Amino acid sequence: MVVAYNAPQQQEHISNPYETALAQFDRAVRYLNIPDGIAEFLKYPRREFTVNFPVKRDDGKIEMFTGYRVHHSTVLGPSKGGIRYSTAVSLDEVRALAMWMTWKCALVNLPYGGAKGGVIVDPKSLSTRELESLTRRYAAELIPLISPHADVPAPDMGTNAQVMAWIMDTYSMTVGYSVPAIVTGKPLNIGGSQGRTEATGRGVITCMVEALNERGNFDANDIRVAIQGFGNVGSHAASYAHSLGFKVVAVTDINGGVYDPNGLDIPAVRAYVAEHGSLDGCPYGDRITNNELITIECDVLAPCAMEGQITDKNASRIQARLIVEGANGPTTPEADDILNSRGITVVPDILANAGGVIVSYFEWVQDLQAFFWDEEEVYRQLKRAMVRSYYGTERAAEEYGVDLRTAAQIQAIKRVADAVITRGIYP
Ligand code: NAD
Repeated sequence: MVVAYNAPQQQEHISNPYETALAQFDRAVRYLNIPDGIAEFLKYPRREFTVNFPVKRDDGKIEMFTGYRVHHSTVLGPSKGGIRYSTAVSLDEVRALAMWMTWKCALVNLPYGGAKGGVIVDPKSLSTRELESLTRRYAAELIPLISPHADVPAPDMGTNAQVMAWIMDTYSMTVGYSVPAIVTGKPLNIGGSQGRTEATGRGVITCMVEALNERGNFDANDIRVAIQGFGNVGSHAASYAHSLGFKVVAVTDINGGVYDPNGLDIPAVRAYVAEHGSLDGCPYGDRITNNELITIECDVLAPCAMEGQITDKNASRIQARLIVEGANGPTTPEADDILNSRGITVVPDILANAGGVIVSYFEWVQDLQAFFWDEEEVYRQLKRAMVRSYYGTERAAEEYGVDLRTAAQIQAIKRVADAVITRGIYP
């Protein structure tokens, strides 16, 4: 018996992320002398795929789920982008995330286009067996679209290395041989890369360090960092910052978190979360809400949870002088204007969180070559790519007289537009 239908719902977003992505594009593209038709082409997702599929629950009931995969661009190579499991997933959210992937890959010079996928589901509401069933069925539905040379998924919010392993196995069983390069962010024992899990958070902090360096001398001990989101990106950013001697004063997850102006004991906080599954009841520091975290007294704010967190409602109260975006799309265009007018530097998502896709690219290359690198090599190449992209963006910001987000978008859009012009319009 069909008992429920997790149909696409209009979720209440603080802002529509696709509108944000399009507004950012419009702000950047006017600095470029590219034909209107090509600018228009770059705005549209190339393909949008919606799947409605059944999953058998542990009690025998059958439930319907809806998922998406959007290929925004395949101009520079196979499309690349994560898969998100969340009740807030919508087609517009996936469109926005796919578009940001196009710009991110182009900005850091990876031979990839941009894609994203998502399923409307709370993964925590499923048993492990149900999660595996949902993942395998969604992966099976995506088979016409994905391949190591066409579209390569990865983890995002609500998914992890185990989910990637199930996708890799489903694809491999369908084609009849093992294809590790079909996804990145896999466990190490089936073709994953050293350093992939830590890569995004590490890249965020690498950007933070360069941005601080660029703005004068500093002592890590004096720099107070507040991090929203304590999942893959936020927790690894917190650990790396802590290991470099920065004071991580506040961390939150979806239900709030903890604050200690003298700096949290991050290894202890992580151990608590590993044992209890969230920051609820964490005994280190004082309790704070997500809203409080955004405007808390600190030097650096790293939103590492989701879109639309920094808006015209809170941007004027932010105390940090530097914002480093671990999440995709955490700042609305209206908030950008307020932050710019207040002289607050924002290191944009497509630059700050590119460490994940950079090491995903290393993983894909290692899988295709069946030749694996050690952790030192991965981190060395990651740092090189992040630092080069960071200073490239600083230089573009000076050249065009714009903020870092617009500078990052200008470079990325230009690279994709140049490739379109070189390739020509088919047929
Ligand atoms: P995750 O699922 O591992 O963790 C998400 C964290 O955010 C959790 O702590 C969750 O409780 C918290 N959260 C969710 N909704 C929230 C809300 N409304 N307010 C405050 N906290 C909330 O996800 P992740 O992989 O760490 O991804 C986080 C962000 O980083 C997303 O925007 C994602 O697109 C982006 N990102 C992730 C990667 C990656 O490699 N995983 C790479 C680039 C960008």
